Amino acid sequence: MSETFKALVVDKDDNGTQATVKDLTLADLPEGEVTVAVEYSCVNYKDGLCIGPGGGLVRNYPHVPGIDFAGTVEASSDDRYKPGDKVVLTGWRVGEAHWGGYSQKARVKADWLVPLPDGLTTRQAMAVGTAGFTSMLAVQALEDHGIKSGPVLVTGAAGGVGSVAVALLAAMGHEVAAVTGRPEQADYLTGLGATQIVAREDLAETVKRPLEGETWGGCVDAVGGAMLARVLGQMQYGASVSAVGLAGGAGLPATVIPFLLRGVNLLGIDSVMQPYDNRVRAWARLAELLPMDKLEAMVVPATLGDLPKLGADILKGQVRGRVVVDVN
Ligand code: NDP
Repeated sequence: MSETFKALVVDKDDNGTQATVKDLTLADLPEGEVTVAVEYSCVNYKDGLCIGPGGGLVRNYPHVPGIDFAGTVEASSDDRYKPGDKVVLTGWRVGEAHWGGYSQKARVKADWLVPLPDGLTTRQAMAVGTAGFTSMLAVQALEDHGIKSGPVLVTGAAGGVGSVAVALLAAMGHEVAAVTGRPEQADYLTGLGATQIVAREDLAETVKRPLEGETWGGCVDAVGGAMLARVLGQMQYGASVSAVGLAGGAGLPATVIPFLLRGVNLLGIDSVMQPYDNRVRAWARLAELLPMDKLEAMVVPATLGDLPKLGADILKGQVRGRVVVDVN
């Protein structure tokens, strides 16, 4: 009998979707050049959608979610990877259109992998995960356009993208203002390096005046919606906002005035289709800049069996920091 391994499998029937830990064999895995013994995965907002009814992201069932994983190559038909190599995967619609990392084994295209960056363990790489990788891309985009003096705003700060952005920006020497709807997370956020806590309600109202006081020298926005619209009118002259997420809504009830009168830049950030060289550069900078004690402070440890509950929690905005899943 062939060897079995464990995976979180989402099945769908007339009653909806159901996620359970099941035994699979290598023959169950999809095609791909590289088979990886997964060590860690993590939980991102998108994972919450894919563990549950899918939010339109999952094409076929049964499905194995998990948009990220890190582990050791077990078999490879591609010259770039050999058994024993440590690798990381984020993006490329793995865990959505393709089977993902909530499994002790995964089989994927070699093009989708990057080598584990020097200085990070597989567990630390998954504490970063798509959320943290995207934070680095967002910060780099701000740097490319020039971060102004004055605090850099991070919205959805106690979430995954927000937590890593706060720690990164603080470690880079910026003053950081953290927006949270959870006042009880203020100590956590100041521990990561935030110097100012902004209540979510303060930015919740829709835009009444297209321009407010010039307050923020940059912004990493994980929330979108009315909050992003409001923030655009509070940016300093020539400052930039990296638009990363839609935790608060996909709409943008804004005016173009901040662009026209203050030269504000709205920068779109996509982590899924980033080319290989950009990925390697972002991971190297994360390994160099992100303080590992701060990263550890964000970690919530979990197992495959915890995922159905955690998937629901993250969609309700109830997860703090980064959930790291030990799949073994
Ligand atoms: P999390 O759930 O960990 O964080 C989102 C945070 O947003 C919450 O913790 C909460 O922070 C805040 N929030 C939740 N609901 C609302 C609301 N209704 N109004 C205002 N704030 C709210 O998710 P992630 O950090 O993993 O992802 C954040 C967003 O970024 C998601 O929309 C995700 O899809 C997107 N994303 C995009 C990527 C890309 O490539 N562009 C890659 C990765 C993520 P608090 O409690 O502190 O207020």
